Amino acid sequence: MKKENFIAPVLLVSLILPGCQLKERELKRPNILFIMTDDHALSAISAYGRYLAKVAPTPNIDRIANEGVRFNNFFCTNSICGPSRACILTGKYSHINGFYKNEGGGDFDGSQQTFPKLLQKAGYETAVIGKWHLGTSPTGFDYYKVLFNKEGQGTYFDPVFEETGGKIIEEKGKYSTTVIKEDALNWLKTGRDITKPFMLMYQFKAPHRPWDPGPGYENYLADITIPHPATFDDNYEGREAAKEAWMRIDGHMNRKDVKIHAPEGLSPEDLEKWNSYGNNDGEFWTPDSTMTDAERKDWKYQHFIKDYLRCVKAADDAIGQVLDYLDESGLAENTIVVYTSDQGFYIGEHGWFDKRFMYEESFHMPCLIRYPGHIKPGTINNDLLLNIDYAPTLLDAAGVSIPDDIQGKSFLPVMEGKTTTPLRDAVYYHYYEYPYWHHVQPHYGIRTDRYKLIHFYYDMDKWELYDLKTDPNELHNLSGIQEFDSVTDDLKLRLDKLKKELKINKSVEELREMTRVQIKRLYKVEAAN
Ligand code: CA
Repeated sequence: MKKENFIAPVLLVSLILPGCQLKERELKRPNILFIMTDDHALSAISAYGRYLAKVAPTPNIDRIANEGVRFNNFFCTNSICGPSRACILTGKYSHINGFYKNEGGGDFDGSQQTFPKLLQKAGYETAVIGKWHLGTSPTGFDYYKVLFNKEGQGTYFDPVFEETGGKIIEEKGKYSTTVIKEDALNWLKTGRDITKPFMLMYQFKAPHRPWDPGPGYENYLADITIPHPATFDDNYEGREAAKEAWMRIDGHMNRKDVKIHAPEGLSPEDLEKWNSYGNNDGEFWTPDSTMTDAERKDWKYQHFIKDYLRCVKAADDAIGQVLDYLDESGLAENTIVVYTSDQGFYIGEHGWFDKRFMYEESFHMPCLIRYPGHIKPGTINNDLLLNIDYAPTLLDAAGVSIPDDIQGKSFLPVMEGKTTTPLRDAVYYHYYEYPYWHHVQPHYGIRTDRYKLIHFYYDMDKWELYDLKTDPNELHNLSGIQEFDSVTDDLKLRLDKLKKELKINKSVEELREMTRVQIKRLYKVEAAN
């Protein structure tokens, strides 16, 4: 394949004509490929070397880590789909960008400053292809084609997209991961202005619920028994909010989640009821009444985790094909490739599926970055970083000045090895949505490199303290134990300081009201299901 080479001629001209030097700098700016999946747990990425690494490897995503950096302590500021995406785009916490809940949280205000807009203004060709899930149509992109049906959630099969200018495209008979890959490749090959550097957000629905595997992936892992994570049989002792949550694999997974087909002839309303039975506490069902409790829980887990990993596998392959294209076209050497997900996910840890909690599995986001010539291959970093840091970092890499109102910090010098000074010594987290979908109590908290303090405040008043050094699985709540009072006091002081810095000045009652208020979604009525 012919390599794109638009830099060399300008370099030549610039040697002769000093006035061309600005143009030269512009053209040498890196391209940015920002790859994001939805709900991808670190444990389901083999680059992180965890318990599924050998069972279900992700060799293509791993390429990014092997050729660049793996961040081990990268966190989201609000572990839920739309809000995390809004934080990434704006570089600001949910209470500043205004999009703090998926359910009853209205639409994202697309008129505000985002990093794609700033890059576009600075001469980048910008595009977003795939999942968007922010209500309003994308702004700041020269091209977009984003999932539209199910209020932007999209479907695995027969996905419907909105394209630039509001055109609705129904991809009948197609699988979402495949369509998104083909669209991304087409845009890279022929859809963009090649005289400009590009920033492409390549974003999958996978592996979000309902975990529908695509063509060719249905039998992947079929003959294997997937191991359980260490906390699979957690009893939630000492953790009231965890005990209350409706996200247990055995207790709250519905029939559709594990692909049990409904009887023939049900009305659409009855079919929906049948499929979703299991979502609510006490809706007990079993595929076989002779199973023991442990057998039933494992049966549900095996069905869920295999479909989840099948969705991951298809996304990993689709990512590999785009990485291959970057190599073949010669674009790879001047392209920053980011791999991330909008949050982490429980894939059996604590007996759960889903996200939302500030516990490690859903608080962490994967973050792998390749930037040839700038990041030493195989770098591993343990700094405390946040999703709001993406915007300033990518602006920094593009040579665009970072506006003062962005709350995140550029970690470009960190990943380039130019500094070993940490950006921060603690991170703040806040989750607001309740009760839908999983009855996770709103909470905020602080995490340092060793401790985590969480306050569940909505209709309980419970503090939890964990020592991540001695209890990395967060099974032992140390709050209220006298021996740890000084640790708690210190963390509370640091929490107050962080809240001041981040302009968080609401009372607990005002925070509760933010959860209670239902802001109607005004986005267009969906065209199809
Ligand atoms: Ca998500």
